[in-house]
Amino acid sequence: MRQYLDVKSRYPDAIVFFRLGDFYEMFYEDAVYVARVLDLTLTTRDKGKEDPVPMCGIPHHAARTYLARLTELGHRVALCEQLEDPRAVKGIVKRDVIRVVTPGVVLDEELLDPRTPSFVAAAAGDGRRGYGLAFLDVTTGDFRATEAATAEALLEEIGRVAPRELVLPRGQGQVQDQDGEALAALVRGAFPMLPRANVDGGGDAAAELAKALGAGFDARAAERAPRAADAAAAVLRYAGATQPGAELPVARLALYARADALVIDEQARRHLELAESLLDRRRAGSLLDVLDETKSAMGGRRLRAWLLFPSVDLDAIRRRHDAVERLVAAHGARDRARKLLGEMSDLERLVGRARLGVATPRDLAALGRSLALLPSLAAALAEAHAGELRGAAAGEVDLLRLGTDGQAPLGGALGAEIAAELLRVLRPDAPALTKDGGYVNAGVSAELDELRDVAAGGRDRIAAIEARERERTGIPSLKVRFNSVFGYYIEVTRAHLASVPADYRRKQTVANAERFVTAELGEFEQQVLTADERRIALELEIFAALRAKVAAVAEPLLALAGRVAVVDTLAALAEVAHRGGYCRPVVDDGGVVELADARHPVVERLAAAGSFVPNDIRLDPAAEQILIVSGPNMAGKSTLIRQVALAVIQAQMGGFVAARAARIGLCDRIFTRVGAGDNLARGESTFMVEMRETAKILRQATARSLIVLDEIGRGTSTYDGVSIAWAVGEHLHDKIGAKTLFATHYHELGALAETHPRVRNVSVAAREWKGEVVFLRKLVAGGASRSFGVEVAKLAGLPGTVIERARAILRTLEAEGAGGADVPRPVAPAHADDGPQLGLFGVATPALPAALREVPIDRLVDIVAALRGLDPDELSPRAAHDLLAALAKKLTPRS
Ligand code: ADP
Repeated sequence: MRQYLDVKSRYPDAIVFFRLGDFYEMFYEDAVYVARVLDLTLTTRDKGKEDPVPMCGIPHHAARTYLARLTELGHRVALCEQLEDPRAVKGIVKRDVIRVVTPGVVLDEELLDPRTPSFVAAAAGDGRRGYGLAFLDVTTGDFRATEAATAEALLEEIGRVAPRELVLPRGQGQVQDQDGEALAALVRGAFPMLPRANVDGGGDAAAELAKALGAGFDARAAERAPRAADAAAAVLRYAGATQPGAELPVARLALYARADALVIDEQARRHLELAESLLDRRRAGSLLDVLDETKSAMGGRRLRAWLLFPSVDLDAIRRRHDAVERLVAAHGARDRARKLLGEMSDLERLVGRARLGVATPRDLAALGRSLALLPSLAAALAEAHAGELRGAAAGEVDLLRLGTDGQAPLGGALGAEIAAELLRVLRPDAPALTKDGGYVNAGVSAELDELRDVAAGGRDRIAAIEARERERTGIPSLKVRFNSVFGYYIEVTRAHLASVPADYRRKQTVANAERFVTAELGEFEQQVLTADERRIALELEIFAALRAKVAAVAEPLLALAGRVAVVDTLAALAEVAHRGGYCRPVVDDGGVVELADARHPVVERLAAAGSFVPNDIRLDPAAEQILIVSGPNMAGKSTLIRQVALAVIQAQMGGFVAARAARIGLCDRIFTRVGAGDNLARGESTFMVEMRETAKILRQATARSLIVLDEIGRGTSTYDGVSIAWAVGEHLHDKIGAKTLFATHYHELGALAETHPRVRNVSVAAREWKGEVVFLRKLVAGGASRSFGVEVAKLAGLPGTVIERARAILRTLEAEGAGGADVPRPVAPAHADDGPQLGLFGVATPALPAALREVPIDRLVDIVAALRGLDPDELSPRAAHDLLAALAKKLTPRS
């Protein structure tokens, strides 16, 4: 118990798993707590004594499930192992903590989500000097840090990085303690569920980092970002302490500035449903879900990073587009490359595990197999690379080069060399456990082969002994056998007991026979066992050397793995572009965003094939800077304005865009203020939240930003709402100049365009037909004439009597409302006739004849438009025939 208490005193913040034989035991409060949350039986140690110690245990082979549960709950677990073989020592076995598993520092594959990084982060700094944020994925060695001037920016970056655990340095002086408290309160408020940990404040962060990283540390860059360095040092200190005795293999710190990537704030990330859906926070229904056609886990992580951190570097973006374009065109090569990528294991994490010294024989065999696929992958890519590019000015595509063509020795020579070595040494079916050996190939070590011969030869020896003893004793049924309790023995059936010679020693009586041992058998057994022990030890030695060899070249291997991950991501983007009919966007540093026949990639995927109505949209800071998008509820306003933001994100992450053609002027930030009510869980009033978010947008947006506002001002009374929306619109127009999409069902806002030259009114068309609302989903110039609220309510199934009553009230209100209110009013119900008139045609959703429901609505619109301006008397019979044929063709579903 003293040993336990000693360990526990060194890891007071962790639950200690104390290894006793085949069990991990927990004691005292740890035992009481864990027994409760994991539903284990709580027992006591030293029962008879006065103060029995509470205790509970789990079988060590089942530890992973329990570890997973405890880290999920935000706990740290210290694994205290036996450092000596209990059979070999007298007295107390030496034990110590070999590693600490924390929510953010996890090495066990089973506890990791393959497609998301596992970051442990640290924040440092204060409101005066600014903040630093650093994060590290120990499984891959990915280690980055940045600075944030304000608490707001810090919290946003934490949200974007989505660490599993956040470390806060504990101050030493009093002032620092206060700052530490403030920082802790800040983080607790914003991320109440994020597990937090403390680490003692260090001295000179730069010196600490230089010592740990050596050449991988850029001291000059760190000087310019001292808070980032503080945070980075804190992460390293924390993560390092989880691997006592072992060196934490982190080679390099990448310092970045938040402005190096398109800034997507938390609201935008959530409302645009980039990585998870708003509704249930699951991946299904998100843009990531549509885009993630990667074949490997490392590719999945990379795609996610590109999506959440799109680039603002024109050259980098164009390089990605070049590669995607080539991969789109080269069907065969793309298919082959993706198939190979699908056969690859997670190179990054496998190399990471080798470097940490925890890779198993199965891991390294998988690494060997995966690396051996690289030449074929490189060949497929070279084929794609040979393809023509449409953009004549396109530069060299190096993203598709894996370097088997001698261009970079890395992929070719090193990968091949390591692959060959791994495949030579390890059996393809190598197990995850080393305790029984059996994973090293024959022919690798002469000594090992010899030891195996002894074991195999053992079988012949046994047969020989058996034959000889039968001969000698005259007992034909005599057998030599083995069991784990007392090793080799000779079994003689009861009937022949009389013939047993005197040199047999009786060992055991069983149902029908007696078992004996002899001096010869004992000696033989010793030999075999020794050989076997030696064999297992030797295999382990060979394996450890192999793992060290991989670890020694971990850096270049990780670089290679990173390139493979990039290729997988590009191939996925190409696959999605090909299947979805996306276009390569023209990206430039002009401010214009222009989309032809644009769709919403997620809504389109969920809609019936061909039923999504594409739209043209143009935003130009010099002309149509602000689009006021009106239209009834359910018309498709939100979908439309979000699809513009998604197009910008997709383009800047390096992908193609769901449109026929696209021009994207680089954006620096994307803001959204969409929907209401989803923040209620945090206990704030909807309106307050909405205004706070709007305030932030007005504070942070620049002329290069894209702003998507959906129904702002909705959380308060109509007049308040309209007034606020109006003032926000003016500010964006006069002061900021950001491209803005402003969806609203306040028609009154339309009048902004009268006085502000860069404001345009557009609406998503809907028409009324026989008391039903018909959604055309087409964007037309001019504001919506009316809101169709009652019709939408009817569509939603409100009872007929209620609908009738609502109509009556609406008529009265409309008649009264003509008399002036202090709200800005649109001058005219602008251009009510601009859109195609479908009222008589009967394209109403419920009333539409079954045969017509197959026809995309925009075609019906075209048909009506074609017929409308027509004078039949003017048409020649020939022209009339052609027109009729063309119209009939349009009516054929899916022509
Ligand atoms: P609003 O914001 O105007 O209330 P939404 O954008 O939420 O409307 O769209 C309402 C529904 O219409 C969505 O569920 C979507 O599936 C569908 N929809 C939106 N835009 C289109 C489109 N262009 N083509 C087909 N369906 C669409």
